[in-house]
Amino acid sequence: MACMQQVSKVITRPHLRLALNSMQRYCSHSPNGYNFELNETQKEFQELARKFTREEIIPVAAEYDRTGKYPWDILKKAHAIGLMNGHIPEEYGGMGFNVFNGSLIAEEIAYGCTGVMTALEASGLGQTPVLLAGNDAQKKKYLGRLVEEPLVAAYGVTEPGAGSDVSGIKTRAVKKGDEYILNGQKMWITNGGVANWYFVLARTDPDPKAPQSKAFTGFIVEREWEGVTPGRKELNMGQKCSDTRGITFEDVRIPKENVLIGEGAGFKIAMMTFDKTRPPVAAGATGLAQRCLDEASKYSIERKTFGVPIAHHQAVAFILADMAVGVDTARLAWMRSAWETDRGIKNTLTASIAKCYAADVANKCATDAVQVFGGNGFNSDYPVEKLMRDAKIYQIYEGTAQIQRMIISRVIIDRAKTLQ
Ligand SMILES: Cc1cc2nc3c(=O)[nH]c(=O)nc-3n(C[C@H](O)[C@H](O)[C@H](O)COP(=O)(O)OP(=O)(O)OC[C@H]3O[C@@H](n4cnc5c(N)ncnc54)[C@H](O)[C@@H]3O)c2cc1C
Repeated sequence: MACMQQVSKVITRPHLRLALNSMQRYCSHSPNGYNFELNETQKEFQELARKFTREEIIPVAAEYDRTGKYPWDILKKAHAIGLMNGHIPEEYGGMGFNVFNGSLIAEEIAYGCTGVMTALEASGLGQTPVLLAGNDAQKKKYLGRLVEEPLVAAYGVTEPGAGSDVSGIKTRAVKKGDEYILNGQKMWITNGGVANWYFVLARTDPDPKAPQSKAFTGFIVEREWEGVTPGRKELNMGQKCSDTRGITFEDVRIPKENVLIGEGAGFKIAMMTFDKTRPPVAAGATGLAQRCLDEASKYSIERKTFGVPIAHHQAVAFILADMAVGVDTARLAWMRSAWETDRGIKNTLTASIAKCYAADVANKCATDAVQVFGGNGFNSDYPVEKLMRDAKIYQIYEGTAQIQRMIISRVIIDRAKTLQ
């Protein structure tokens, strides 16, 4: 704690804001085109997040994994030093992080515990529809309160019967005077039990033939409203401290002021969100992969077999080399995708490539790290079995590995049609 006070003494919110402004100006005017170097302020930010992770997350990650307790204590500290909700624009009290800088922080936090990273990232996921499509009053009210207090948001799209196939959702909102009446059930909502408010996608056009671009509407729904009931905390394979729940909506009255853009705009908002949130998810997977590489390489120079450290066996050294290839290229993939969206370049393809690839790299690195640890790798006294359990979700949430490949292959096939 003493150390945290030191950090926040050195880097205060106004200091961060000034530094960020100059960093973002610098990034958008790189004179030599591609630039593979972080500037000084980005390095400072990365160092802050790294220090926070080393001091506040790594020492307690195993305990949060064992108990499944939501990491409020960590989130409160992250909020206090500006590592939470940084993407909220300055006019609403945030620091106006771009996607690149937010992803840089996500990678560092994920290195310590991807359960904590998912709790933070899911709040960003819930906020992004409001950032993209909210009006001034909505942003002031709902983003502003997250800056004032360490609260979180959530993104409520998936249902028991529809995940990949978003247009199959059944939750309905019916207009009645100046309100909408919401009924239905969501499933697998991260931060479902702890969020202050949710982005909720619901069907507003009952005609099953209505195009998806018109049939759905996005709403901001408050947790405390009558008829909103989160279910039990789900017992997941990994990332156990993150909070995943079903949510039931029963005759919930939503004022029309809480509609994003207007009736029928919801599907597009829900999908556009992923262009901004897949880069940080890919960065999280990269952080986990980096941790696997670090743990495995440290172990490989300590553990001896046949009279030498196992790193001296080429078969083990090459496992480490393959892990390093994956980590480095996954990082480049998220960086490119984040850089594109920050420049206003359509990044749906590179966001899917980064998310798909980094998730696969995280899973391969986690399996390989367990292998390098041998029997110890299979045991919870060592850090890598948690990494293997935690890695899996990266191939499932925010679009499964198969859905990313569908998005990528569609672009490739369309492009092929234009080739001579
Ligand atoms: C821990 C956790 C946290 C989550 N957090 C959130 C959240 O915060 N908000 C939210 O809205 N949702 C969240 N989700 C839901 C998540 O996004 C979905 O689970 C995911 O999109 C997959 O949907 P599904 O589970 O219904 O699987 P399904 O869509 O039923 O898919 C089952 C399998 O079939 C494959 N498949 C499906 N369709 C195709 C196809 N056309 N071609 C090829 N393969 C296909 C899938 O890839 C998968 O392997 C979370 C899920 C989990 C487990």
